[in-house]
Amino acid sequence: MPQSMIIWGRHIRKTLVKHFREADILLKRDADLFNLIFFSQNKSMKRRPFLKFSVLSLLTTNINMAWSQEYKFDFAKAKQGYLNRIQSIKKSGLIPIIDIESSYNPLTFDAQSFIQAMDRAGIAQVCLSLTQPKKLAEQGQIWNADSDQLAIKYPEYFIPTGNGGVDPAWTKTPDRFLDENEKSVVLQKTPLMGEFEFRHYPSPRQVQRGEDRDVNIPIDSPLGHRLFAFAQKTGVPFQIHYEIEDGLLGPLEKMLTQYPNAKVIWCHLAQIRYSSRSSIYSPEYISALLDKHKNLYIDTAFGNSRSKYPLSGELHARYWANQDAWNKLIIANPYRFLAALDLGGDRIEKLGEWTQSLRFFLNTLPNEVAEIVAYKAAWKLLFNETLKG
Ligand SMILES: [Zn+2]
Repeated sequence: MPQSMIIWGRHIRKTLVKHFREADILLKRDADLFNLIFFSQNKSMKRRPFLKFSVLSLLTTNINMAWSQEYKFDFAKAKQGYLNRIQSIKKSGLIPIIDIESSYNPLTFDAQSFIQAMDRAGIAQVCLSLTQPKKLAEQGQIWNADSDQLAIKYPEYFIPTGNGGVDPAWTKTPDRFLDENEKSVVLQKTPLMGEFEFRHYPSPRQVQRGEDRDVNIPIDSPLGHRLFAFAQKTGVPFQIHYEIEDGLLGPLEKMLTQYPNAKVIWCHLAQIRYSSRSSIYSPEYISALLDKHKNLYIDTAFGNSRSKYPLSGELHARYWANQDAWNKLIIANPYRFLAALDLGGDRIEKLGEWTQSLRFFLNTLPNEVAEIVAYKAAWKLLFNETLKG
C-alpha cells in the first residue's frame, strides 16, 4: 500500500474514531473493520472488493449517524424563528397551528413542497415524526436520523420529534427501538417522542391496500413500563396510538397513576372503530380522567363527520355525533387538547385539505379556546411557556 494512502487512511481513521467516540456508537467494531480493510494484508483477494463495499457502506451510514447525532435541539435558538412564523400567520388573519402529530417517509418526502404547503395553510410548525420504511427496518436499521436534517435546514418549520413507534421497527425489535429512542432524546434534547403504537387496528388506507397491521402491545407490559419510566425521568412527552376499547382503559389508567410525571398524549380524540367494544369512553369519562391524571393530553386528529372505518362500517370520528358535549369538555380544559393533522407517508400531500377540516373543527370553539388548542397548548406542553396575545 503506498505511503500516502496509509497517511490518508490514518487521518480518516482518526476523524472517524473521534466521531464515534463522541457519538458513543459502534466505536470499536467499526474502527477494527476499518483497520481490517486499509491496514491488513488481506489474504483472500477474491473477497476484498465485496468486503470493501460492505464495510464502506457501513462506515458511511455510521458517519452520517455520528454527524447527525451532533445535532442538538436548542429551544433558545429556535424560539424566535417559531414565534416569527406564528406572528406572521396571525397577521394574515389565520389562527396559527402547531401540528403535534404527523409522520413522514424519508424516502419519498419532498421537504420544499411540504413547507410551501405549510405556508399556504397557515401551519406554523409540525412535529414531524419519521416512520422508518419497512425495508430499512428489516435490514436492521431500526432508527433513522433523517429528520435532524429538516430541523437543521428549516429550523422555524419543524419541532424535532422522535421516530414513530411503528411496525416493524418498534413491533419486531422493541428493545432496540427504545435504546435508540432514549439515546436520541438524551443526546439531541428532542422535546417530543413520536407516536408509539400499543393497540392499533389496520388504518382505513391499509385496509384498502389489503395490508394486515394489527398491533397489540399491552401498555402495562415491560415495554410500556420502560417508556413511561423514561418519560417520567426526562419530562419529555410521548404520543400513543391506543384504540378505544373498554378492556384497554384500566391498564392505561394504571400506568398514568404509576407514572404521574410521564406526559402522555393520547392521539385521536373519540376515534372509536367498533362501538360494540366501547361502552365507557365518553365526554364524562374523559373529563374525570383529565381531572385525575394531570399528565394526560389528547390530540384532536380525527376524521370528518362522513369518515367510515371500513372494517366495521361505522362512522368512527365520534366527536361529530356528540359535538356539544365534547366542545364543553375542551372549553373546560383547553390546554389538555392539541391540534393535530395526523399526516403520514401515504397521505403527506393532504396537508391543505386536512388543515381545512382541522380549522372547521377549531371554528366551532370560542376564539380564545381555538387559539389554545391550535398552538398555545402545544407550546406550553413542549416548552413550558404560556404564550400571551
Ligand atoms: Zn395514530
